[in-house]
Amino acid sequence: MSYETIAAISTPMGEGAIGIVRLSGEEAVDIASRIFRSPHNKKLMEVPSHTIHYGHLVEPSTDQIVEEVMVSVMRAPKTFTKEDVVEINCHGGIVSVNRVLELVLSNGAQLAEPGEFTKRAFLNGRIDLSQAEAVMDVIRAKTDEAMDIALGQMDGRLSRLIGALRQGILDTLAQVEVNIDYPEYDDVEEVTIPLLREKATWIMEEIEQLLETSKQGKIIREGLQTVIIGRPNVGKSSLLNSLVQENKAIVTDIAGTTRDIIEEYVNIKGVPLKLVDTAGIRETKDIVERIGVERSRQVLKQADLILLVLNGAEVLSDEDRHLFEAVDGFETIVIINKTDLPQELDLQEVRTLAKDSPIVTTSLVQDEGIHQLEDAIQELFYSGSLEQADLTYVSNVRHIVLLKEAHRTIAEALEAAEIGVPIDMVQIDLTRTWELLGEIVGDTMKDSLINELFSQFCLGK
Ligand code: GDP
Ligand code: ZN
Repeated sequence: MSYETIAAISTPMGEGAIGIVRLSGEEAVDIASRIFRSPHNKKLMEVPSHTIHYGHLVEPSTDQIVEEVMVSVMRAPKTFTKEDVVEINCHGGIVSVNRVLELVLSNGAQLAEPGEFTKRAFLNGRIDLSQAEAVMDVIRAKTDEAMDIALGQMDGRLSRLIGALRQGILDTLAQVEVNIDYPEYDDVEEVTIPLLREKATWIMEEIEQLLETSKQGKIIREGLQTVIIGRPNVGKSSLLNSLVQENKAIVTDIAGTTRDIIEEYVNIKGVPLKLVDTAGIRETKDIVERIGVERSRQVLKQADLILLVLNGAEVLSDEDRHLFEAVDGFETIVIINKTDLPQELDLQEVRTLAKDSPIVTTSLVQDEGIHQLEDAIQELFYSGSLEQADLTYVSNVRHIVLLKEAHRTIAEALEAAEIGVPIDMVQIDLTRTWELLGEIVGDTMKDSLINELFSQFCLGK
C-alpha cells in the first residue's frame, strides 16, 4: 500500500539548537532532491540509503538559498514508517524550521496530521498499536521511570505477553472444536471443562498480574495526584515551593499544545508527584469549613496522596480535627511545620488522630525536615518493589479497561462451562476475550477508533 508523501516538523517548537523536518512516502527523496543543492553536486536520488548530506535548500524556481542543512536519506523498508524517509536538519529557530516546512509543502508534500508518521508505521505493519501508544508515552513521559515503561512497551514486551495469551485462547478454542467434532468420548463436557478450567485460570492470573502493575504504572506515568491541605498560614505554599525547588522533574513539553492547567511535577526519589497548582491548593484551604467533611472527602477522593499540614506553634484547632476526619482512610502524611517556633501542639493528640499515617516535622523557613518527608513519601509508595524493573507494566487507561473486560469475559466463559451452558456459548465468550486482548495490540480494532487514537499524537511524530 502507498500513501501520499507527508511532512512535518518533528522537533519541539521553539528555540532548539537544531530543528528537523521529516518527510515520509514514495516521493520523499524526489521532493528533497528538487530543493537540495550539494556543494559537490551530489544527487540525493543517487546516494546510498541511510546516509547524511550537507548542503543548501533552495527555491527551485530561482535557486535562491533558503537554508543551510544536513539531509538524511533513508529508503524503505528499514525506516520508522517502512516508507522512504528524508529528514532535513536545519537551524532550530521557529522561522527557519517553518521556512523549510513551507518549501517541502510547496514542492509536493502534504502536511502530516498529528500522529500520522506513527500511524503509518502501524498501518505498514512495523509496529502494533500498543507500541504506537508507547511512542506517544515516550513523548509525554515526565520521569525516567515512565520513559522506561514506555520504551519497554515500544520494545514489544506487552505485545508479546498479550500475543501469548491470545495464542492460548486460540489453542483452547481449537481443542474445544476438536472435542465437538470428534466426540470419541460420550460426553464432550467431560473433557472440555477441565481443559477450559486450566487455560482460563492461567489467562485470568496473567491478566490479574498485569492489572496489579497498573496502579504503579499509572503512578509512574502520570504522577501521584497529591493534594496539600491545612488551615490558612500553616505553610502549604512554602511546602509546595520547597518540594518543587529541590525536585523539579523533567517535564517534556508537548509541541503544539498550550497547557491551561499549571501542574507542578516533582520527582521524589523516583516517586513522581503531581502537585496541583496553587490555585487548586488555595481552593482546598478552607474546603472543610465551606463544604463540610463529607463533600471534602469527595474532593480528596481523586488524590493518591494527601499532605496534611499543621502548625506546630499553635494548639490544635477544630478545623485541624475536621481535616483529620476528612482524610481518614486516604494515604496521608501529616506534617507538623514551624518547629523553629515555640511548640504548642499536643503531639499526643496528633498521634492519636493520625492513626497509622506517618508524621514528619519540618521547619520550612529553615529548610529542615524536607528530606524526612521525602523518605516518608518514598516509603509509602515503593517499599523497594520497583527495583524489579523487569515487570511488564500496564499504565495506559485504554489497556486497563480492555484487560478488565477480557478478565470478565473469560471468567464468564469458565463459569458458563462449569454450570453446563452449551459449549458453543462458551466459545462465544472465549472468542470475545481473544478479540478484547487483540484490541490492545490493535489487531481487532475498528478504523474510527484507530483514527481517534492517532489524532492524540503530536504533530511530527
Ligand atoms: P499557607 O497559607 O498554608 O500556604 O502558608 P504559607 O506557606 O503561605 O506560609 C504562611 C506564613 O508562614 C509565611 O509567612 C511563611 O513564611 C511562614 N512559614 C512557613 N513555614 C514556616 C516555618 O517553618 N517556620 C516559620 N516560623 N514560619 C513559616
Ligand atoms: Zn498559601
